[in-house]
Amino acid sequence: MRHSLSMLPSPAASRPSSPGGRGFPLLIALLALLQYGCSRNVKPTENTVNADPEAGVSLALANERARAIESLKYELSFTIPAEAAEPVIGRAVIRFSTKDLTRPLVLDFSPGADSIQSVSIAGRPSHFRAVKDHIIIPKEELASEDNAIDIAFKAGDGSLNRNPDFMYTLFVPARAHLAFPCFDQPNLKARFDLELNVPHGWQAVSNGAETFHEPAADRVRIRYAETQPLPTYLFAFAAGKFQIETAERNGRWYRMFHRETDVKKVERNKQAVFDLHASSLDWLEKYTGIPYRFGKFDFVLIPSFQFGGMEHPGSIFYNASSILLDESATENQMLNRASTIAHETSHMWFGDLVTMQWFNDVWMKEVFANFMAAKIVNPAFPHVNHELRFLLSNYPPAYAVDRTAGTHPIRQDLANLDDAGSLYGNIIYDKAPIVMRQLERILGADKLQDGLRLYLKEFQFGNATWLDLIKVLDDRTDLDLMAWSHAWVEEAGRPSIRTAIEGDRIAFVQSDPQQGRSLRWTEKMEVLLGTSTTSSSVPLELQGERTELMIPAGLPRPEFVLPTGGGLAYGDFTLDDATRKFLLQQLPDLKDPLTRGAVWVTLWEEMLDRRVRPADFVDLSLRALPREDTEQNVQLVLSYVADAFWGFLSESQRRDVAPRLEQALRSGLDRAASSSMKSTYFSAFRSTVTTPEGIAFLERVWRHQEKIPGLTLAEPDEASMALDLAVRSVPAAAAILEEQRGRFMNPDRKARFEFVMPALSERQETRDAWFESLRDVKNRRREPWVLEGLQYLHHPLRAALAEKYVRPSLDLLVEIQRTGDIFFPTRWMNATLSGHNSRATADAVRDFLAQQKDYPIRLRRIILQAADELFRAADMLSAG
Ligand SMILES: [Zn+2]
Repeated sequence: MRHSLSMLPSPAASRPSSPGGRGFPLLIALLALLQYGCSRNVKPTENTVNADPEAGVSLALANERARAIESLKYELSFTIPAEAAEPVIGRAVIRFSTKDLTRPLVLDFSPGADSIQSVSIAGRPSHFRAVKDHIIIPKEELASEDNAIDIAFKAGDGSLNRNPDFMYTLFVPARAHLAFPCFDQPNLKARFDLELNVPHGWQAVSNGAETFHEPAADRVRIRYAETQPLPTYLFAFAAGKFQIETAERNGRWYRMFHRETDVKKVERNKQAVFDLHASSLDWLEKYTGIPYRFGKFDFVLIPSFQFGGMEHPGSIFYNASSILLDESATENQMLNRASTIAHETSHMWFGDLVTMQWFNDVWMKEVFANFMAAKIVNPAFPHVNHELRFLLSNYPPAYAVDRTAGTHPIRQDLANLDDAGSLYGNIIYDKAPIVMRQLERILGADKLQDGLRLYLKEFQFGNATWLDLIKVLDDRTDLDLMAWSHAWVEEAGRPSIRTAIEGDRIAFVQSDPQQGRSLRWTEKMEVLLGTSTTSSSVPLELQGERTELMIPAGLPRPEFVLPTGGGLAYGDFTLDDATRKFLLQQLPDLKDPLTRGAVWVTLWEEMLDRRVRPADFVDLSLRALPREDTEQNVQLVLSYVADAFWGFLSESQRRDVAPRLEQALRSGLDRAASSSMKSTYFSAFRSTVTTPEGIAFLERVWRHQEKIPGLTLAEPDEASMALDLAVRSVPAAAAILEEQRGRFMNPDRKARFEFVMPALSERQETRDAWFESLRDVKNRRREPWVLEGLQYLHHPLRAALAEKYVRPSLDLLVEIQRTGDIFFPTRWMNATLSGHNSRATADAVRDFLAQQKDYPIRLRRIILQAADELFRAADMLSAG
């Protein structure tokens, strides 16, 4: 699947969190759905004969079943009423052999006893029991071969996404058993035989090809060819009022299901969409040496789909809006569309043909899908600086978690699929791709391709772990890949690497920032050696505690040594003093945009480690911006500047620098050639403006008394301006909010604004009451609204007044996790803490953590991640 497309950090928020602060909106939707088992009882995980299985799908249960069950096949039929409120009626015949007759058989099914109409086995009624999330079949009813459990049931709607004119399944990661009885784990692959009974006039699609289509009265009965072996999370069907477009490419037929009513829009997009699928498929067949194995190839464009896409073999589901583009689509949107299609198509091999054993390795299929997609798509977009894009979209967010005391390994233990949501975050989405790129550098592209071909062939239609792949690749290199993988994948954190120029050589000394571990990382680096007029890149492999690089003969003595040259090396770098001094002066003179990007990322980390003063960082930014013409770098710098301004400067430093900052942003606004660049500058201005003149300008723009040439401000921009004016306590604050409220044409945006307004009130009692209202889960249902309100409540300009909300917010976190979407705890903490930098607030967080003895480890990590910049800023500012 593909989460929301990665975006560069935008300084649009009232105070941007660090560049890593962005979230994963699409995953939220997925992971929220995993929360159904919130109150699950914590029982010992071993399944003795008499103990009922725990709720959800535990690793112990999954292992036990994977050892016993063989030759698994599901014969499923569903009768889908036109009316979304009426239940879907289902029948499942589950056929299998088992090697274990010593214990009862546990099936997964969440809707409960009331939804089970009958269960029979071998034609006789079963004495089954329904417990939470499961159906238990007595062992006496089982045979070692040819078992057929026949279950009639009312399907649960939790994963059926039922809408007035259509429905679609979304079973990843373990949500099939919300709808029908099954073994809901990735390593029990089965053949699926499906029959659907749908209203007349509906279309339907599933993994297999349609083999039978019989209209009867006002209904239609459709059968599908038996599938290849699939895990439950890849089984899918959709039914409803869809249009179908068909095309042939290289002898293969493709079908596109959609609900788009704009005929021209479909016409404009469809050939390109078919082409992108065909070229991705063709590329992957060549790369892997394995033909596409899932028969027919359809895809379904679903309005407001939870993710960018989901890789059901034979029937990929996409979010319609990212595939059918408007005429005004930017190159970036085209690149994202091509990447999404290549990503999902790559999954046909990585994830679908070979599947992870357990969801602890879900990162693996995602990272390979991205990796392949980049190879497939990037060459077609030569105007984009792909290396810079990779650097800026991966390193800052990965560092934002990996530098904190709350970080975790890429590969984490997962005891129950109910908790699968806790695996997702920056480490999987941002650090894992960096690690994979390292792996390719270490092995070389050809050997990696050979290894992947062998791995896909060996495990096709089966399951494999990360370690299975590493074993295959280990034969292809002298490096100890197991040790490499241990440091990068199984352990948390990043190496601390110090560079020093020592005569004719440069030393790179690494250490483990985690006490008592002494881990050593191996990585490929490109060291940039330069002077003010020239620079050269020298490859280096960092190994062990100390690695030396001889300065190549013929090169002048470097004035700077950049270990992160090429945007490749990963770690916490301590530059040598001369280099740091040079870069703080000369960064704007560096010719290569990728080098500049790498220097910015490195200097920001140096600032957080207190080797660069925040005021110097801001000063450098203001000198560099007028000369920076690469939009990706402008976005990065503006995001850093806003973060430094609010978080790391003292109040008097802020007052001193404000006029220069606003001047720089306004001239950037004037100078910017594209509307997206103008919008980037304007957002940064809006979020950092503090001088009376600057605020007056913002107010004139909001009042439509002044226009910004080349920039069209839409309703959401006006709303943000109104809120930013209010939080600055302008004299007309209350009237501005009221007027803005009256301006809305869009009712959803108006409702959101009305929800947020009290958090901006001049009156403390109103703000208190707003915060108090969040204790009621009903008032937290619209999470983005809550987060926007919290950000303004805790705005740096009001931080002192908001300190008192911090402890109650921490106290609420356990409940927030229990009742909210999966990413809500992280975002709740970020919105609460990102406006603060005081010693008192830092102490409040530390006290809370010290007092909570048996606090859930995953929540502790979330707090430590969110509080990292607060801790650093408070220490820095109180040290003076
Ligand atoms: Zn994916």
